[in-house]
Amino acid sequence: MVSRRPIESDTLIMVCPPYVCVPYEPRKQFVCAYCFKEFKYLEERAKASQEAGEGANGGQNAGSTKSESSSTSSGVFPPPTESLDASLAQLQVDEPKAPTEGEQSTNAPEVPPMPETIIDELLQCQGCKEVWYCNEECRLADLAEHGYYECRALAKFDIPWAKGYYSYCDDLITDIRLILRAINKRYWQLGQNIDEFAEEYQLLISNMSCYTEDVLTSLRSIVQYANYLLPDEVIISDDELLEIYCKHRVNMFGLWANGGECLGYGVYPRASYFNHSCWPNTTFYKNPDLKVPHMNFLTVWPIQGEGEEVCISYIDISVGLKERRNTLLDKYFFHCTCERCMLQELSPEEPDPYYIYWAPAPPPDGYAPGDPNATPSSPPAAAATAASAPTIPPEETPFDIPPEK
Ligand SMILES: [Zn+2]
Ligand SMILES: [Zn+2]
Ligand SMILES: [Zn+2]
Repeated sequence: MVSRRPIESDTLIMVCPPYVCVPYEPRKQFVCAYCFKEFKYLEERAKASQEAGEGANGGQNAGSTKSESSSTSSGVFPPPTESLDASLAQLQVDEPKAPTEGEQSTNAPEVPPMPETIIDELLQCQGCKEVWYCNEECRLADLAEHGYYECRALAKFDIPWAKGYYSYCDDLITDIRLILRAINKRYWQLGQNIDEFAEEYQLLISNMSCYTEDVLTSLRSIVQYANYLLPDEVIISDDELLEIYCKHRVNMFGLWANGGECLGYGVYPRASYFNHSCWPNTTFYKNPDLKVPHMNFLTVWPIQGEGEEVCISYIDISVGLKERRNTLLDKYFFHCTCERCMLQELSPEEPDPYYIYWAPAPPPDGYAPGDPNATPSSPPAAAATAASAPTIPPEETPFDIPPEK
């Protein structure tokens, strides 16, 4: 994406709506699945009560997880790739409850949302018991995106089993939830003759041809499981789901709370036009005002004029040249030749120009992509984003977007 004109720093250049987004698995009970408002005080209360040994039988607010109460999670199941049907047949999941006629209504309730301070617990979807909302208003607003196939698929999803089976399971479960939601969205849109972002989503790159066969085999086993969860009316091949999954892997953005905790992940097709730079002139963050979690893109450096590329950072840019390039190659399959990488490659003995610029001393000539005398009013945002990442392996941290090829 290139600029058509000069843009000052701190300019909001895009407010991007999501195609789909889901709460981050470990925090799903404390983040509304519609508006992504986080209920930190409920989470803290749950943690405190868990620490006090009251968590095991205290219901959702005591922070008990399904794994503590589930009777289906015992035993070891063979990998879904090997014998998916056989292993899943043992799961003894309950018949999923489809939303009733009444629940399909899109009429918002008369009741205004309760003030946050008196919400004592979030509203749990009774169809799947896997998503939580601020209130009835948010639940009803989310019905189109949740109530067709996602609710039924999540009701079938044996998350305790998945947690016992997969490593890095919180991320994989979040990945699977995003796949299910994308499928729900597609079918709902088809049924309603709505095509908002459908084409842009369709055009997202997947980088599928860049994966090794081993990695593809692992990813395929995950989509086979997702396909098993989907109701029978959804006819979709594993190959197509695999492509969707690969698209998500390179196009996901993290949704971060102000306090720095991960709220969830989303796909923002329009935002995927931004290329990467290790010295980005634009940052992104969750829009604080809109109910559906839009992503704001804000310049952090002045953009000089027509033709200058507008870039964000896909990765943690606080690390050194080699680590940045390796991460970008592993996750996004390109060798970074951004200005900072090239300066560091050509003068490996010199200090990192990025940090020279951000240090109190003025930068050397030619190092700053913007006005060298400008004092950015916000810190390097990509570094801030990465610093708040949860402690999960970098290759499983799907909060970045892909290079435009
Ligand atoms: Zn809400
Ligand atoms: Zn549900
Ligand atoms: Zn770079």
